[in-house]
Amino acid sequence: MGYSFYPTDLEEMRLTSPRYTLAVHGGAGTMARGATDEAPYHAGLRAALAAGETILAQGGSALDAVVAAVTALEDEPLFNAGRGSVYTSTAEHEMDAAVMDGSTLAAGAVATVRTPRNPVQLARAVMDSRFVLLSGDGAEAFAREHGLEAMPPAYFHTAHRLEQLQRLQAQEGGQRMQMDHAPTAPLDETRKFGTVGAVALDSTGHLASAVSTGGMTNKHPGRIGDSPLVGAGIYANDQSCAVCATGSGEYFIRACVGHDIHARMAYAGATLSEASQAALAQVGQLGGEGGVVAVDRQGNIALPFISAGMYRGWVRAGEAAQTRIFED
Ligand code: ASP
Repeated sequence: MGYSFYPTDLEEMRLTSPRYTLAVHGGAGTMARGATDEAPYHAGLRAALAAGETILAQGGSALDAVVAAVTALEDEPLFNAGRGSVYTSTAEHEMDAAVMDGSTLAAGAVATVRTPRNPVQLARAVMDSRFVLLSGDGAEAFAREHGLEAMPPAYFHTAHRLEQLQRLQAQEGGQRMQMDHAPTAPLDETRKFGTVGAVALDSTGHLASAVSTGGMTNKHPGRIGDSPLVGAGIYANDQSCAVCATGSGEYFIRACVGHDIHARMAYAGATLSEASQAALAQVGQLGGEGGVVAVDRQGNIALPFISAGMYRGWVRAGEAAQTRIFED
């Protein structure tokens, strides 16, 4: 890739005692030239930050905050998770999600679920059980047993995502597109990784991560990405950091990105920024692209990406929330 890492100057702000910190992302990807309306994306990120910060400001846990932030992103159809999930090759929805608590290393995840309104809440329920990862029909049954809200396929239908599928299938079938398609989003929606995620440090010094995705447009039914795989698309450990990823999931799985960032910090003494950039470099070397959001136990934030942009935002106690899309 020809892109450089987004250099985050937040890295220099080392904090002496834990202050709550929350960072979110809404996916990474390529730039869509001609797109103008970035405002709804910033608004969606801000709503997620507000949902999580409300909890952190009241002394709530990092775990509750990341679940609340990701729930807000799942309910926003602009992002590829929950309601706005992309379509599989058979024009259905299969969603993956996970949560991890850095204070206990407890984790919960679900893969290829079709009906839960908020897959991240199902992942949280799995975390509270004796299992870590449930998939498909079994995960659906677990959701029903735990009274989680289910939605019909129509809830997850979005016209522009269906059009993305049709365009991609036409392209992959070697046909030239007939449509003159004007981009409607800042990042090219057919070539964007739209997973949503959140990482947080709470005022007691605990870390947590949550992630949720519809996966990749035109994916084969049954395909599972990095998002629900602990150590790949998500990781949290109070010793080091909380991480969640977005990008070409197969590469993030092969590079074990989440645990790699933790390990570089815990075993090699790397800073959050060094560790996350090194892990992403491995993804790049394999041929993948995407980004991560990460926070360490001092409240430092790293938001590196190896793509043209990443929908992202962050907030810390006493500071105004910030959102960005491109490298500015
Ligand atoms: N990482 C996700 C996956 O491979 C896709 C994304 O980030 O949008 O399922």
